[in-house]
Amino acid sequence: MILQLEQVESDVIHVGKRMYDRGYVASNDGNLSVRLSEDRLLITMSGVSKGFLDRDKFVIVDYDGAVISGKHDPSSEMKMHLMVYRERPDVHAVAHAHPPAATGFSVAGLHLPDALLPEVIVSLGFVPIAPYGTPGTMELVESLRGFVRNHDAVLLENHGALTLGPDIISAYHKMETMEHCAQITLVARMLGQVNSIGQENVDKLHRLYGRPYSSGGNEGYRTEETT
Ligand SMILES: [Zn+2]
Repeated sequence: MILQLEQVESDVIHVGKRMYDRGYVASNDGNLSVRLSEDRLLITMSGVSKGFLDRDKFVIVDYDGAVISGKHDPSSEMKMHLMVYRERPDVHAVAHAHPPAATGFSVAGLHLPDALLPEVIVSLGFVPIAPYGTPGTMELVESLRGFVRNHDAVLLENHGALTLGPDIISAYHKMETMEHCAQITLVARMLGQVNSIGQENVDKLHRLYGRPYSSGGNEGYRTEETT
Protein backbone atom coordinates (compact mmCIF):
# COMPACT_ATOMS: atom_id res chain seq x y z
CA MET A 1 0.00 0.00 0.00
CA ILE A 2 1.42 3.40 -0.98
CA LEU A 3 0.16 6.18 1.26
CA GLN A 4 -0.42 9.76 0.18
CA LEU A 5 2.64 11.64 1.46
CA GLU A 6 0.74 14.88 2.12
CA GLN A 7 -1.87 13.12 4.24
CA VAL A 8 0.81 11.26 6.21
CA GLU A 9 2.72 14.49 6.85
CA SER A 10 -0.35 16.35 8.08
CA ASP A 11 -1.33 13.41 10.34
CA VAL A 12 2.17 13.31 11.88
CA ILE A 13 2.18 17.12 12.37
CA HIS A 14 -1.22 16.79 14.10
CA VAL A 15 -0.06 13.93 16.36
CA GLY A 16 3.19 15.72 17.23
CA LYS A 17 1.23 18.77 18.36
CA ARG A 18 -1.20 16.70 20.47
CA MET A 19 1.72 14.82 22.05
CA TYR A 20 3.52 18.08 22.91
CA ASP A 21 0.38 19.92 24.07
CA ARG A 22 -0.48 17.08 26.44
CA GLY A 23 3.02 17.11 27.92
CA TYR A 24 4.02 13.66 26.66
CA VAL A 25 7.33 15.14 25.49
CA ALA A 26 9.53 18.00 26.68
CA SER A 27 11.91 20.01 24.53
CA ASN A 28 12.88 17.97 21.43
CA ASP A 29 12.04 14.57 22.96
CA GLY A 30 10.21 11.77 21.19
CA ASN A 31 9.94 10.66 17.58
CA LEU A 32 7.27 9.54 15.13
CA SER A 33 7.42 7.44 11.97
CA VAL A 34 5.13 6.01 9.30
CA ARG A 35 5.66 3.17 6.82
CA LEU A 36 5.05 4.80 3.43
CA SER A 37 5.63 1.75 1.24
CA GLU A 38 7.58 -1.49 1.10
CA ASP A 39 10.86 0.41 0.79
CA ARG A 40 10.21 3.86 2.27
CA LEU A 41 9.67 5.17 5.77
CA LEU A 42 8.91 8.73 6.93
CA ILE A 43 10.47 9.73 10.25
CA THR A 44 10.78 12.97 12.22
CA MET A 45 14.16 14.72 12.00
CA SER A 46 16.64 14.80 14.85
CA GLY A 47 16.45 17.67 17.37
CA VAL A 48 13.04 19.17 16.70
CA SER A 49 10.12 19.85 19.03
CA LYS A 50 7.19 17.61 18.12
CA GLY A 51 4.84 20.49 18.92
CA PHE A 52 6.18 22.56 16.01
CA LEU A 53 6.58 20.13 13.12
CA ASP A 54 6.16 21.18 9.50
CA ARG A 55 6.80 19.45 6.16
CA ASP A 56 10.51 20.33 6.27
CA LYS A 57 10.99 18.47 9.55
CA PHE A 58 10.60 14.97 8.06
CA VAL A 59 13.15 12.64 6.54
CA ILE A 60 12.38 9.78 4.17
CA VAL A 61 14.66 6.77 4.61
CA ASP A 62 14.82 3.19 3.34
CA TYR A 63 14.66 0.20 5.67
CA ASP A 64 18.45 0.19 6.04
CA GLY A 65 18.23 3.75 7.36
CA ALA A 66 19.76 5.42 4.27
CA VAL A 67 18.37 8.93 3.71
CA ILE A 68 16.37 9.16 0.49
CA SER A 69 15.13 12.74 0.91
CA GLY A 70 14.98 15.47 3.52
CA LYS A 71 17.19 18.37 4.56
CA HIS A 72 18.09 17.10 8.02
CA ASP A 73 19.35 14.04 9.89
CA PRO A 74 16.70 11.49 10.88
CA SER A 75 15.81 10.94 14.54
CA SER A 76 18.61 9.47 16.65
CA GLU A 77 16.15 6.67 17.54
CA MET A 78 15.69 5.61 13.91
CA LYS A 79 17.18 2.16 14.60
CA MET A 80 14.38 1.47 17.08
CA HIS A 81 11.75 2.35 14.44
CA LEU A 82 13.47 0.26 11.74
CA MET A 83 13.55 -2.75 14.06
CA VAL A 84 9.80 -2.45 14.77
CA TYR A 85 8.90 -2.40 11.03
CA ARG A 86 11.10 -5.46 10.42
CA GLU A 87 9.62 -7.39 13.35
CA ARG A 88 5.99 -6.39 12.74
CA PRO A 89 4.80 -6.33 9.10
CA ASP A 90 1.31 -5.42 10.39
CA VAL A 91 2.57 -2.17 11.96
CA HIS A 92 2.51 0.98 9.81
CA ALA A 93 3.26 3.67 12.40
CA VAL A 94 5.37 4.05 15.55
CA ALA A 95 5.18 6.70 18.28
CA HIS A 96 7.81 7.26 20.97
CA ALA A 97 7.31 9.74 23.84
CA HIS A 98 7.92 10.22 27.56
CA PRO A 99 4.40 10.56 29.03
CA PRO A 100 5.11 11.46 32.66
CA ALA A 101 2.76 9.18 34.61
CA ALA A 102 3.42 6.07 32.49
CA THR A 103 7.15 6.84 32.43
CA GLY A 104 6.97 7.26 36.22
CA PHE A 105 5.77 3.66 36.50
CA SER A 106 8.78 2.56 34.42
CA VAL A 107 11.13 4.57 36.66
CA ALA A 108 9.55 2.98 39.74
CA GLY A 109 9.85 -0.47 38.11
CA LEU A 110 6.09 -0.99 38.42
CA HIS A 111 3.79 -2.46 35.76
CA LEU A 112 0.51 -0.78 34.95
CA PRO A 113 -2.21 -3.00 36.41
CA ASP A 114 -3.94 -4.64 33.45
CA ALA A 115 -7.40 -5.55 34.69
CA LEU A 116 -8.68 -2.21 35.91
CA LEU A 117 -10.16 -0.34 32.96
CA PRO A 118 -12.19 -1.78 30.05
CA GLU A 119 -10.63 0.52 27.40
CA VAL A 120 -7.12 -0.51 28.41
CA ILE A 121 -7.97 -4.21 28.48
CA VAL A 122 -9.43 -4.04 24.97
CA SER A 123 -6.87 -1.77 23.29
CA LEU A 124 -3.56 -2.39 25.09
CA GLY A 125 -3.65 -5.48 27.25
CA PHE A 126 -0.59 -6.10 29.38
CA VAL A 127 2.09 -3.42 28.95
CA PRO A 128 5.58 -4.86 29.56
CA ILE A 129 8.64 -2.86 30.66
CA ALA A 130 11.71 -3.35 28.44
CA PRO A 131 14.99 -3.25 30.40
CA TYR A 132 16.91 0.03 30.23
CA GLY A 133 19.08 0.62 27.17
CA THR A 134 21.06 3.72 26.20
CA PRO A 135 18.96 5.86 23.80
CA GLY A 136 20.16 5.85 20.21
CA THR A 137 22.08 2.57 20.56
CA MET A 138 21.48 -1.06 19.59
CA GLU A 139 21.32 -1.82 23.33
CA LEU A 140 17.91 -0.11 23.44
CA VAL A 141 16.83 -1.72 20.16
CA GLU A 142 17.68 -5.24 21.40
CA SER A 143 16.02 -4.69 24.78
CA LEU A 144 12.77 -3.90 22.92
CA ARG A 145 12.87 -6.49 20.15
CA GLY A 146 11.25 -9.39 22.01
CA PHE A 147 8.53 -7.17 23.47
CA VAL A 148 7.39 -5.49 20.25
CA ARG A 149 6.82 -8.93 18.69
CA ASN A 150 3.92 -9.47 21.07
CA HIS A 151 2.81 -6.04 22.22
CA ASP A 152 1.54 -2.78 20.68
CA ALA A 153 2.51 -0.78 23.78
CA VAL A 154 5.79 -1.11 25.69
CA LEU A 155 7.29 0.94 28.50
CA LEU A 156 11.04 1.62 28.30
CA GLU A 157 12.61 1.38 31.74
CA ASN A 158 13.69 4.82 33.08
CA HIS A 159 12.97 6.37 29.70
CA GLY A 160 9.47 6.47 28.17
CA ALA A 161 7.01 4.58 26.03
CA LEU A 162 6.65 3.10 22.54
CA THR A 163 3.31 2.46 20.84
CA LEU A 164 2.58 0.84 17.48
CA GLY A 165 -0.41 0.88 15.17
CA PRO A 166 -1.80 0.49 11.65
CA ASP A 167 -1.56 4.31 11.29
CA ILE A 168 -0.07 7.20 13.28
CA ILE A 169 -3.39 8.26 14.85
CA SER A 170 -3.97 4.72 16.20
CA ALA A 171 -0.38 4.49 17.49
CA TYR A 172 -0.82 7.85 19.23
CA HIS A 173 -4.18 6.85 20.72
CA LYS A 174 -2.49 3.89 22.41
CA MET A 175 -0.02 6.33 23.97
CA GLU A 176 -2.95 8.42 25.25
CA THR A 177 -4.75 5.35 26.63
CA MET A 178 -1.57 4.19 28.38
CA GLU A 179 -0.95 7.57 30.00
CA HIS A 180 -4.61 7.90 31.02
CA CYS A 181 -4.43 4.46 32.66
CA ALA A 182 -1.24 5.46 34.51
CA GLN A 183 -2.87 8.66 35.80
CA ILE A 184 -6.02 6.85 36.97
CA THR A 185 -3.96 4.13 38.64
CA LEU A 186 -1.90 6.77 40.40
CA VAL A 187 -5.06 8.48 41.75
CA ALA A 188 -6.53 5.13 42.89
CA ARG A 189 -3.29 4.31 44.69
CA MET A 190 -3.27 7.71 46.39
CA LEU A 191 -6.85 7.03 47.51
CA GLY A 192 -5.57 3.79 48.96
CA GLN A 193 -7.57 1.19 47.07
CA VAL A 194 -7.17 -0.38 43.63
CA ASN A 195 -9.89 -2.89 42.72
CA SER A 196 -9.51 -5.22 39.73
CA ILE A 197 -12.57 -6.07 37.63
CA GLY A 198 -11.54 -9.74 37.78
CA GLN A 199 -10.73 -12.37 35.16
CA GLU A 200 -14.37 -13.14 34.43
CA ASN A 201 -15.00 -9.57 33.33
CA VAL A 202 -11.75 -9.47 31.35
CA ASP A 203 -12.91 -12.61 29.47
CA LYS A 204 -16.31 -11.02 28.84
CA LEU A 205 -14.67 -7.93 27.30
CA HIS A 206 -12.52 -10.12 25.04
CA ARG A 207 -15.56 -12.07 23.88
CA LEU A 208 -17.44 -8.85 23.09
CA TYR A 209 -14.67 -6.70 21.60
CA GLY A 210 -11.86 -9.09 20.71
CA ARG A 211 -8.37 -9.28 22.16
CA PRO A 212 -5.63 -6.67 21.72
CA TYR A 213 -2.58 -7.78 19.76
CA SER A 214 -0.65 -7.66 22.99
CA SER A 215 -2.59 -10.46 24.64
CA GLY A 216 -0.92 -12.86 22.18
CA GLY A 217 2.25 -12.51 24.27
CA ASN A 218 3.57 -14.78 26.96
CA GLU A 219 2.33 -12.69 29.83
CA GLY A 220 -1.23 -13.40 30.86
CA TYR A 221 -3.59 -10.98 32.54
CA ARG A 222 -3.03 -10.51 36.21
CA THR A 223 -6.27 -9.79 37.92
CA GLU A 224 -4.50 -9.16 41.19
CA GLU A 225 -3.18 -5.71 41.89
CA THR A 226 0.58 -5.72 41.39
CA THR A 227 2.87 -3.15 42.93
ZN1 LIG B 1 13.06 8.87 24.31
